[in-house]
Amino acid sequence: MSCRQIKRRLESIGEDIRALDAVIVSHEHSDHVRGLEVLARQTGVRIFATPLTAARLSWINSTPELATFEAGRRFVIGDLEIETFTVSHDAIDPVGFCVRNNGCKISIATDLGYITDSVRYHLASSELLVIESNHDLEMLKSGPYPWELKQRVMSRDGHLSNTAVAEYLASDWDRRARTIVLAHLSENNNHPAIAEMDARKAVDSVGADATTIFVAEQQRPLPVVEL
Ligand SMILES: [Zn+2]
Ligand SMILES: [Zn+2]
Repeated sequence: MSCRQIKRRLESIGEDIRALDAVIVSHEHSDHVRGLEVLARQTGVRIFATPLTAARLSWINSTPELATFEAGRRFVIGDLEIETFTVSHDAIDPVGFCVRNNGCKISIATDLGYITDSVRYHLASSELLVIESNHDLEMLKSGPYPWELKQRVMSRDGHLSNTAVAEYLASDWDRRARTIVLAHLSENNNHPAIAEMDARKAVDSVGADATTIFVAEQQRPLPVVEL
Protein backbone atom coordinates (compact mmCIF):
# COMPACT_ATOMS: atom_id res chain seq x y z
CA MET A 1 0.00 0.00 0.00
CA SER A 2 1.02 3.62 -0.35
CA CYS A 3 2.90 5.52 2.33
CA ARG A 4 -0.17 7.70 2.82
CA GLN A 5 -2.30 4.61 3.44
CA ILE A 6 0.25 3.18 5.90
CA LYS A 7 0.26 6.52 7.74
CA ARG A 8 -3.53 6.65 7.84
CA ARG A 9 -3.87 3.09 9.10
CA LEU A 10 -1.21 3.54 11.78
CA GLU A 11 -3.05 6.66 12.94
CA SER A 12 -6.32 4.71 13.13
CA ILE A 13 -4.75 2.45 15.78
CA GLY A 14 -3.13 5.37 17.59
CA GLU A 15 0.37 5.06 16.13
CA ASP A 16 2.51 7.74 14.49
CA ILE A 17 4.45 6.80 11.37
CA ARG A 18 7.39 8.94 12.58
CA ALA A 19 7.70 6.64 15.61
CA LEU A 20 8.58 3.64 13.45
CA ASP A 21 12.05 2.33 14.31
CA ALA A 22 12.45 0.09 11.30
CA VAL A 23 10.81 -1.60 8.35
CA ILE A 24 11.81 -5.17 7.52
CA VAL A 25 11.32 -6.22 3.91
CA SER A 26 10.28 -9.85 3.39
CA HIS A 27 10.77 -9.80 -0.38
CA GLU A 28 10.66 -7.46 -3.35
CA HIS A 29 7.18 -8.14 -4.77
CA SER A 30 5.34 -4.92 -5.39
CA ASP A 31 2.46 -5.70 -3.02
CA HIS A 32 5.05 -5.56 -0.23
CA VAL A 33 7.28 -2.63 -1.20
CA ARG A 34 5.10 -0.26 -3.20
CA GLY A 35 4.97 2.49 -0.57
CA LEU A 36 8.43 1.93 0.81
CA GLU A 37 10.45 4.44 -1.19
CA VAL A 38 8.19 7.32 -0.19
CA LEU A 39 8.05 6.08 3.39
CA ALA A 40 11.86 5.90 3.53
CA ARG A 41 12.22 9.37 2.05
CA GLN A 42 9.63 10.99 4.28
CA THR A 43 10.54 9.38 7.60
CA GLY A 44 14.21 8.33 7.24
CA VAL A 45 13.24 5.03 8.85
CA ARG A 46 15.83 2.24 8.88
CA ILE A 47 15.12 -0.43 6.28
CA PHE A 48 16.23 -4.01 6.78
CA ALA A 49 16.48 -6.32 3.76
CA THR A 50 18.72 -9.11 2.56
CA PRO A 51 21.42 -7.95 0.11
CA LEU A 52 19.73 -9.82 -2.75
CA THR A 53 16.33 -8.27 -2.01
CA ALA A 54 17.86 -4.82 -1.58
CA ALA A 55 19.52 -5.18 -4.99
CA ARG A 56 16.04 -5.50 -6.52
CA LEU A 57 14.96 -2.15 -5.08
CA SER A 58 16.45 0.31 -7.54
CA TRP A 59 16.10 3.35 -5.29
CA ILE A 60 17.50 1.85 -2.12
CA ASN A 61 21.19 2.56 -2.61
CA SER A 62 20.49 6.23 -2.21
CA THR A 63 19.00 5.43 1.19
CA PRO A 64 21.59 5.79 3.93
CA GLU A 65 19.29 3.97 6.34
CA LEU A 66 19.62 0.58 4.61
CA ALA A 67 20.70 -2.24 6.92
CA THR A 68 21.22 -5.67 5.39
CA PHE A 69 20.90 -9.11 6.93
CA GLU A 70 21.45 -12.59 5.50
CA ALA A 71 18.39 -14.86 5.32
CA GLY A 72 18.44 -17.19 8.29
CA ARG A 73 20.32 -14.76 10.55
CA ARG A 74 19.19 -12.97 13.69
CA PHE A 75 19.46 -9.27 14.47
CA VAL A 76 18.17 -6.84 17.03
CA ILE A 77 15.98 -3.77 16.64
CA GLY A 78 15.54 -1.93 19.93
CA ASP A 79 14.28 -4.50 22.43
CA LEU A 80 13.10 -6.91 19.74
CA GLU A 81 15.13 -9.87 18.58
CA ILE A 82 14.36 -10.70 14.97
CA GLU A 83 14.99 -14.16 13.58
CA THR A 84 14.62 -14.69 9.83
CA PHE A 85 14.00 -17.85 7.88
CA THR A 86 13.89 -18.66 4.19
CA VAL A 87 10.53 -19.41 2.62
CA SER A 88 9.69 -21.02 -0.70
CA HIS A 89 8.32 -18.27 -2.96
CA ASP A 90 9.08 -16.92 -6.41
CA ALA A 91 11.11 -13.94 -5.22
CA ILE A 92 14.92 -13.52 -5.15
CA ASP A 93 15.48 -14.17 -1.41
CA PRO A 94 12.14 -14.31 0.46
CA VAL A 95 12.05 -14.61 4.23
CA GLY A 96 9.63 -15.00 7.12
CA PHE A 97 10.19 -13.64 10.63
CA CYS A 98 10.06 -14.53 14.28
CA VAL A 99 10.06 -11.62 16.72
CA ARG A 100 10.99 -12.18 20.36
CA ASN A 101 10.71 -9.95 23.37
CA ASN A 102 10.67 -10.82 27.04
CA GLY A 103 10.06 -14.53 26.49
CA CYS A 104 7.24 -13.92 24.04
CA LYS A 105 7.49 -14.93 20.41
CA ILE A 106 5.43 -14.03 17.37
CA SER A 107 5.93 -15.47 13.91
CA ILE A 108 5.05 -14.04 10.54
CA ALA A 109 4.97 -16.19 7.41
CA THR A 110 3.23 -14.93 4.28
CA ASP A 111 4.09 -15.53 0.64
CA LEU A 112 5.20 -19.14 0.77
CA GLY A 113 4.28 -22.01 -1.52
CA TYR A 114 4.49 -24.70 1.10
CA ILE A 115 5.45 -25.27 4.71
CA THR A 116 8.95 -26.71 4.82
CA ASP A 117 10.45 -28.42 7.88
CA SER A 118 12.38 -25.23 8.53
CA VAL A 119 9.21 -23.10 8.48
CA ARG A 120 7.50 -25.58 10.81
CA TYR A 121 10.45 -25.34 13.16
CA HIS A 122 10.41 -21.56 13.19
CA LEU A 123 6.66 -21.27 13.72
CA ALA A 124 6.79 -23.46 16.84
CA SER A 125 6.38 -21.91 20.30
CA SER A 126 4.72 -18.76 18.96
CA GLU A 127 2.19 -16.89 21.09
CA LEU A 128 0.90 -15.18 17.99
CA LEU A 129 1.03 -16.69 14.56
CA VAL A 130 0.53 -14.66 11.39
CA ILE A 131 0.22 -17.06 8.50
CA GLU A 132 -1.01 -16.58 4.98
CA SER A 133 -4.22 -18.27 3.92
CA ASN A 134 -4.12 -16.99 0.38
CA HIS A 135 -6.69 -18.88 -1.61
CA ASP A 136 -9.45 -21.40 -1.64
CA LEU A 137 -8.37 -24.06 -4.12
CA GLU A 138 -11.80 -24.39 -5.74
CA MET A 139 -12.21 -20.63 -6.08
CA LEU A 140 -8.73 -20.34 -7.57
CA LYS A 141 -9.33 -23.14 -10.09
CA SER A 142 -12.67 -21.79 -11.27
CA GLY A 143 -11.72 -18.09 -10.82
CA PRO A 144 -10.68 -15.38 -13.30
CA TYR A 145 -6.87 -15.82 -13.30
CA PRO A 146 -5.21 -17.07 -16.49
CA TRP A 147 -4.08 -20.68 -16.21
CA GLU A 148 -0.39 -19.77 -15.96
CA LEU A 149 -1.04 -17.52 -13.00
CA LYS A 150 -3.20 -20.18 -11.33
CA GLN A 151 -0.31 -22.61 -11.74
CA ARG A 152 2.07 -20.06 -10.22
CA VAL A 153 -0.12 -19.43 -7.18
CA MET A 154 -0.59 -23.18 -6.57
CA SER A 155 3.08 -24.06 -7.06
CA ARG A 156 5.64 -24.68 -4.35
CA ASP A 157 6.93 -21.17 -5.00
CA GLY A 158 3.47 -19.64 -4.79
CA HIS A 159 1.06 -19.15 -1.92
CA LEU A 160 -0.52 -21.25 0.84
CA SER A 161 -4.13 -22.31 0.33
CA ASN A 162 -6.74 -22.47 3.07
CA THR A 163 -6.36 -26.25 2.88
CA ALA A 164 -2.60 -26.12 3.36
CA VAL A 165 -3.04 -23.93 6.44
CA ALA A 166 -5.76 -26.21 7.82
CA GLU A 167 -3.52 -29.26 7.32
CA TYR A 168 -0.68 -27.53 9.14
CA LEU A 169 -2.94 -26.49 12.04
CA ALA A 170 -4.51 -29.93 12.37
CA SER A 171 -1.29 -31.95 12.07
CA ASP A 172 1.83 -29.95 12.84
CA TRP A 173 0.89 -26.92 14.89
CA ASP A 174 1.96 -27.05 18.56
CA ARG A 175 -1.28 -25.35 19.79
CA ARG A 176 0.71 -22.76 21.68
CA ALA A 177 -0.60 -19.65 19.91
CA ARG A 178 -3.54 -17.96 21.62
CA THR A 179 -4.02 -15.85 18.51
CA ILE A 180 -3.76 -16.79 14.86
CA VAL A 181 -4.00 -14.20 12.11
CA LEU A 182 -4.87 -15.45 8.64
CA ALA A 183 -3.18 -13.03 6.27
CA HIS A 184 -2.60 -12.21 2.61
CA LEU A 185 -6.03 -13.40 1.45
CA SER A 186 -6.62 -13.12 -2.27
CA GLU A 187 -9.49 -10.81 -3.15
CA ASN A 188 -10.31 -12.90 -6.22
CA ASN A 189 -9.72 -16.41 -5.02
CA ASN A 190 -10.78 -16.48 -1.41
CA HIS A 191 -13.46 -15.38 0.97
CA PRO A 192 -12.70 -14.42 4.59
CA ALA A 193 -15.53 -16.61 5.90
CA ILE A 194 -14.20 -19.68 4.06
CA ALA A 195 -10.61 -19.12 5.23
CA GLU A 196 -11.78 -18.64 8.80
CA MET A 197 -14.05 -21.68 8.72
CA ASP A 198 -11.30 -23.96 7.38
CA ALA A 199 -8.82 -22.77 10.02
CA ARG A 200 -11.42 -22.86 12.81
CA LYS A 201 -12.32 -26.46 12.03
CA ALA A 202 -8.65 -27.46 12.08
CA VAL A 203 -7.93 -25.61 15.32
CA ASP A 204 -11.02 -27.03 17.03
CA SER A 205 -10.12 -30.54 15.82
CA VAL A 206 -6.98 -30.45 17.97
CA GLY A 207 -8.83 -29.10 21.01
CA ALA A 208 -7.56 -25.51 20.78
CA ASP A 209 -11.03 -23.98 21.02
CA ALA A 210 -9.73 -21.04 23.06
CA THR A 211 -7.47 -19.82 20.27
CA THR A 212 -8.73 -16.64 18.62
CA ILE A 213 -8.58 -16.46 14.84
CA PHE A 214 -8.50 -13.12 13.04
CA VAL A 215 -8.74 -12.71 9.30
CA ALA A 216 -6.63 -9.79 8.11
CA GLU A 217 -8.49 -7.58 5.67
CA GLN A 218 -7.00 -5.67 2.78
CA GLN A 219 -8.85 -2.44 3.50
CA ARG A 220 -8.34 -1.82 7.23
CA PRO A 221 -6.06 -2.81 10.09
CA LEU A 222 -6.87 -5.47 12.64
CA PRO A 223 -7.48 -4.48 16.25
CA VAL A 224 -4.30 -4.27 18.30
CA VAL A 225 -3.49 -7.63 19.92
CA GLU A 226 -1.96 -7.47 23.42
CA LEU A 227 0.39 -10.29 24.37
ZN1 LIG B 1 2.52 -10.88 -1.37
ZN1 LIG C 1 5.14 -12.34 -2.97
